[in-house]
Amino acid sequence: VEYRTAALRERGRTTGTVLSFNDISDRLAAEKMKDEFISTVSHELRTPLTSIRGALGLLAGGKVGAIPEKGQRMLEIAVSNTDRLVRLINDILDIERMESGRATLQKKTCLAADMMTHAAEVMRPMADKHGVHLTVSCGQANVLADPDRMIQTFTNLLSNAIKFSPTGGDILFREEVSKGEVVFCVHDQGRGIPANMLDKMFVRFQQVDASDAREKGGTGLGLAICRSIVEQHGGRIWVESELGKGSSFFVALPIEPEPASASPIQTVNGALTASMELLLCVQEETSRQRLSKLLQAHGFKVTAVPLTGHAVRLAGSMDSGTILLDLPYGKQTDKEEEWQVVSGLLEAALRHDNPVVMVNLHRQSSAPGANGHDQDEDVLERLEQVMGRSRGPSVLLVEDDIDLSRVMVEVLSRHSISVWHAANGREAVHILDKHQPDLIILDLVIPEMDGFAVVNWLRQHHTNPPAIFVYTNMELSYAQKSQLQLGRTEIFTKSVITLDEIESRVLSLLESLMAKQQKEEQKSGI
Ligand code: ADP
Repeated sequence: VEYRTAALRERGRTTGTVLSFNDISDRLAAEKMKDEFISTVSHELRTPLTSIRGALGLLAGGKVGAIPEKGQRMLEIAVSNTDRLVRLINDILDIERMESGRATLQKKTCLAADMMTHAAEVMRPMADKHGVHLTVSCGQANVLADPDRMIQTFTNLLSNAIKFSPTGGDILFREEVSKGEVVFCVHDQGRGIPANMLDKMFVRFQQVDASDAREKGGTGLGLAICRSIVEQHGGRIWVESELGKGSSFFVALPIEPEPASASPIQTVNGALTASMELLLCVQEETSRQRLSKLLQAHGFKVTAVPLTGHAVRLAGSMDSGTILLDLPYGKQTDKEEEWQVVSGLLEAALRHDNPVVMVNLHRQSSAPGANGHDQDEDVLERLEQVMGRSRGPSVLLVEDDIDLSRVMVEVLSRHSISVWHAANGREAVHILDKHQPDLIILDLVIPEMDGFAVVNWLRQHHTNPPAIFVYTNMELSYAQKSQLQLGRTEIFTKSVITLDEIESRVLSLLESLMAKQQKEEQKSGI
């Protein structure tokens, strides 16, 4: 029941109150139906649309065979309109959620620079594609913000700036502190916005030119969403522009004096192989036990043996794995048998194409300043480098939608990335028990064991977990997001991020992992 009250006044005096009651059951039922409809749209339309878009992208890109010219044109139309549809659905859902107050902000103290660089990283492939230079100039300020929502705002402003920039144009994304506020500015050298439109830019479906939505692929909702997000942060958003010269979009947020507790973007863990077989051949017992313990704690499956014929037999039956070999120290004639074992081990390794890491524990530990612990850490580092080097980048895809999985596997395999696929949580854990992928792309709603349980399993069983890209339809609460944080974790909503964007995020992550690995190898001369 909704009720209203109104005062009854007679000659300036209040003489009573009129109370009216209204049965709003029908209205609430209609609102509930609307909510249910929106949630159905969200869950039922997003996944198939993502696979349609992915499949069309592969066809249009000629990845599954040549397409005649006419068909190619048709496919391009289908691709661009599917993109528009996906964006429109996402934007409608987003604005509905924001305005109904269901999208509560998960605020925390963040370094503004982290959000800026993250947004710029996401948009850089688009800028490159349009031949636009994107420069980011960050400061040291902290803000109390929901990083995901602010990154969404910046991403939208950057995307508009790129869309409306001429080829070769410059975009400057900068941050400035002024009067207790952090003011972010995205400045472009595009066509600009007429003065009479400046106030209307943040209203739904407002476009400077009616053809913008069609030609530039927009929905006319982006800036309205930005305004809603910024206002929920207690901030302001506005635009200044000169026709033909460019536009500057400003976002001002109250400054947060405390230092940032943690960056929203966590740094990459050394995601190198940690679960491969390792045959540890060390003659001296204390060193053998000490190293074995350390390496096991880092996820290696260690078999530790002294330099005897048994070691050679084990090496001979090891199909894939690494041999860590402590070379005999002292006069060759005194160590005849051990040297024979060494050559046996090397032969076996050669036969199976297994890498051998040779160390000299005795000599190193007698060097001035060296101690057992430093030396063990050194060995660990080298091992990780060698084992990491012996394979290309790999991804575990955990997704139960078979069509979407097929499209994603196809997309990733094009870049020589090895892909394991798990259609449920149990399979994922089974694979993770045996292999160490560089990255897991994880759907959350999957049979048998959900995505949260997979992350929990990783937390308990891996000291060095791989990076995780959560790729989901679910709207996650702050608590759920924290539950998924493990090493480097990024969360993407299906269809909000397109398959092309996921592809470029995966590639840039793997490239940076591989580059880091190579640098370490060069440094240590491996
Ligand atoms: P869309 O998704 O269509 O980009 P927005 O709300 O983000 O929706 O933008 C609405 C309209 O505002 C655009 O269609 C365009 O006409 C205009 N606009 C936004 N940003 C810029 C810009 N940087 N330069 C020129 N026009 C812009």
